[in-house]
Amino acid sequence: MASNDAYRDRSVLIHGKFKSEKWDFQDHIIPPITTAVSFRLRSAERGAAGFQQFANPEVDRNTAEPIYIYDRLDEPCCGLLEESLAFAEKGESAVVYSTGMAAIAAALGIHTRSGDHIIHHPAIYGCTHGHLKNWLTRYQITSSAVDLKSGEALLASIQPETRVVYFETPCNPTMEVIDIEQVVRIVADENEKRGDDNKIVTIVDNTFASPFAQRPIEMGVDFVVHSLTKHIGGFGATMGGVVIGPRSAETSLLLYRKDFGGSISPDAAWHILTYGLPTLAVRLEKQQATAQETAEFLEGHPNVEQVIYPGLESFEQKEIAARQMRDIDGDPAPGAMISFVLKGDDHQAFERAKTLINSIADSSLSITLAVSLGQIRTLIEHPSSMTHAPVPIEDQKLAGINPGAVRLSIGLEDPRDIISDLSKALDQLG
Ligand SMILES: *Cc1c(COP(=O)(O)O)cnc(C)c1O
Repeated sequence: MASNDAYRDRSVLIHGKFKSEKWDFQDHIIPPITTAVSFRLRSAERGAAGFQQFANPEVDRNTAEPIYIYDRLDEPCCGLLEESLAFAEKGESAVVYSTGMAAIAAALGIHTRSGDHIIHHPAIYGCTHGHLKNWLTRYQITSSAVDLKSGEALLASIQPETRVVYFETPCNPTMEVIDIEQVVRIVADENEKRGDDNKIVTIVDNTFASPFAQRPIEMGVDFVVHSLTKHIGGFGATMGGVVIGPRSAETSLLLYRKDFGGSISPDAAWHILTYGLPTLAVRLEKQQATAQETAEFLEGHPNVEQVIYPGLESFEQKEIAARQMRDIDGDPAPGAMISFVLKGDDHQAFERAKTLINSIADSSLSITLAVSLGQIRTLIEHPSSMTHAPVPIEDQKLAGINPGAVRLSIGLEDPRDIISDLSKALDQLG
C-alpha cells in the first residue's frame, strides 16, 4: 500500500492520508459533510464501546476505526482535518477547535492549575492577553510578560511554579522574531532539574508563519497552536483553531474540548480540509513573493521610515529568521505579513497612517481596510488607531506598538496593483 512518506508535503496536503480510518470514502474524492448531530449506535454494546474508546490513551486514533457518538465529541471531517494538520506541523497528534482562541484556551488549560505561572512574550494576540489577564487570574494562574528575545531574561524569570513558556514568532503586530531553538534549549536545561509532574512546556502560536513557512515542533517545541481562521483556512470564510503536540496530551485536549464545548462545526472543518489546506503551499508561495516585492517597494518610498519584513536585508533579526523560517522544501520563507512605519514624529506619523488607510479604504480595489490576516485578499490595518486605540500612545510605545506603523497582510492580487494602490496613497501624503 502506498504510504504518505513517499510523497512531498504539497501532494499529501491536497489528498490527506492515503488511507484513513476516519471515513470510508473510497468512492468520494471529496469527503462528504455529515450534518447529523448524533450517530446511530446499533446496539448498547457498540454504544458502550464508543464511550470507552473516546479520549482513551490506549486507543490509537490513527489506526482504530472510530465509533462516532455525538458531534461535540468527534465527527469525521474534524478527524480527517486533524490527521492532515498533524502531518503539516510534523506533530504526533492534532485536536481541532471552533476558533483559534478556543485552541489557545485548551493548550493553556490542560497545562495549568491554581498557583501555576506562565511566561509569555510581551507582544501577543490581544485576546490571548485577555485570556491570561481576565480569566486565568480568577483561578490564581499568574503570568509574566518577558522579552523572550533575551535568553537571560527568560532564565531569570523562571519560577518554581512556572509551567508554560508561550510565544508567537513572528509577533503581532511588531514582527519581532523569537529564537525558537534558544527558548527550547533553556527550557530543556531547566526541565533536567525537574520531576515528571512539574516540567515546563513550550507553546508556539504559529499563526503568522503557518506550517508552510515554519514548523516549531521540528525545532523541539512541545505544542503548536493555530488560528485556522487565518493562513490555513486562507479564504476568510470560516473560523477554526488547532493544538498540535505529543500523543500523550491528546486525551486531555479531547476531554477539554468535550467539557468546555469549543468543537468545530463539520462544515467549517470540511471547508478548511477541502479548500484551505490543499491550497496552503501555492497561496503562501505567491503571497510571499508579492510580499517581498511590496516590502522592497515600500523601503524605497520617501514617505516610509522603516519596513519590517523578515525577507529584507535590513531586517534586524535576519539570521534567526533565515534559520527558522523555511518552507516545506527547505527554502527561506519570510511569510506574507509586513509592517511599515510612516515618517514623522509620533503624532505626525499617527495622523499620516490614518490618512493613508482612509485613502486606501476610499479608493483601493486591491487592498481592503479590515482586521484579520492570511486571506487571498490583501488587508491593511493601523494597530495604533484601530485595535489598540483605547491604549494611550505612550503606553502603546512601551508595548512595542509604533503610532506610525501600518500592518499589511498580502493576498493573491497582482503585485503591480497592490504596489500601485500603495504608491497612490503614499504619494498623497506629500
Ligand atoms: C487571529 C489570531 C488568533 C485567534 O484566532 P481566532 O480564530 O480569531 O480565535 C490567535 N493568534 C493569532 C496570532 C491570531 O492572528
